[in-house]
Amino acid sequence: MKFGTKAIHAGVQPDPATGAIMTPIYQTSTYVQDGVGNHKGYEYSRTQNPTRHALEKNIAAIENGKYGACFGSGLAAIDCVIKMLNPGDEVISTNDLYGGSYRIFKTIFEKYGIVFHFVDMQNTTEVERLTNEKTKIIWVETPTNPMMNIIDIAAMSLIAKKVGALLCVDNTFATPYLQTPLDLGADIVMHSVTKYLGGHSDVVMGALVTSDEKIANEMYRIQNSSGAVTGPMDSFLVLRGIKTLHLRMQRHCENGEKIARFLKTSAKIDKVYWPGFESHPNHLVAKEQMRGFGGMISFTLLGNNLDEALEIVKKVKLFALAESLGGVESLIGHPATMTHASIPKDVREKSGVVDSLIRLSVGVEDAEDLIEDLQQALA
Ligand SMILES: *Cc1c(COP(=O)(O)O)cnc(C)c1O
Repeated sequence: MKFGTKAIHAGVQPDPATGAIMTPIYQTSTYVQDGVGNHKGYEYSRTQNPTRHALEKNIAAIENGKYGACFGSGLAAIDCVIKMLNPGDEVISTNDLYGGSYRIFKTIFEKYGIVFHFVDMQNTTEVERLTNEKTKIIWVETPTNPMMNIIDIAAMSLIAKKVGALLCVDNTFATPYLQTPLDLGADIVMHSVTKYLGGHSDVVMGALVTSDEKIANEMYRIQNSSGAVTGPMDSFLVLRGIKTLHLRMQRHCENGEKIARFLKTSAKIDKVYWPGFESHPNHLVAKEQMRGFGGMISFTLLGNNLDEALEIVKKVKLFALAESLGGVESLIGHPATMTHASIPKDVREKSGVVDSLIRLSVGVEDAEDLIEDLQQALA
């Protein structure tokens, strides 16, 4: 089955009780049993809920995986993966990781004895050098946030397999429409569903997908034991959002390309980070592992002036100044003071998050209007 068909139909069937074509919001905590242990597959909604279950099957299908699990946020999904580890285990990750992922690794899990290494993952030799028998997870984010670096998923998979580690890919930026990491050798795919999968800036949610039964059992055990589940109302909204994921992503990609090319011509701008440019250092890897380049773009200003960057993010009218990304409306952000403020200045600057860096989440409006807005803000 092709992507658009799966997005609309996978995991979803008319409600057996009424024939309702849309999966009902099963707003219930518990389920009545005919006799002890005699139930219809649902006992308690932390463990399982029909609306959430439909969504979990849908997300697993669009990621070309077998098992899906949804959580109260992207970070709760990450929390589940790291809880599969034991004290002394090691994780290797990218040095320009999403700020919240860096924070949960460093400030929550490090004190339980899990060791995290951060490295420029575009350099596969460096990643390989950090591996040892204690390496249990290689954690990849690609494209990275906000530098739009591209990491070679298949190459990371080979390194992970050599040391018996799991490869986990945060696929939030690309979405399964543009990239399916399980097909490239990943063991677990993670999403901040909050972003493109939900797509309408109205839900906070996370998800994990795997095709490995052993990993899936662990995933469901931790999901139920830690209890960071998502609710039926949010599951319904995301089921609805995913039905247009392919249509939205097509427009995000088209608009992204137009705006990236416009920014390149602006006299105020120094660098434009977008993996669709042939000049992008890993453009070829992006072309190989992605089916499009998405709507996330970052750029810096000539002179790298902080006040000038803050002025621009204030002057835009259509682009809303906000954290988050992936919704139908365009957003603008200033990573150094917003999403990446929790990363020490020297650490973030080493990976390119300088004071004038501005990040765009290009929405699905008309590109001409978005370009006009940026033009007036840059003038
Ligand atoms: C937003 C985001 C997260 C965290 O997800 P939440 O839903 O906000 O908890 C993780 N990774 C990436 C790449 C993100 O953009």
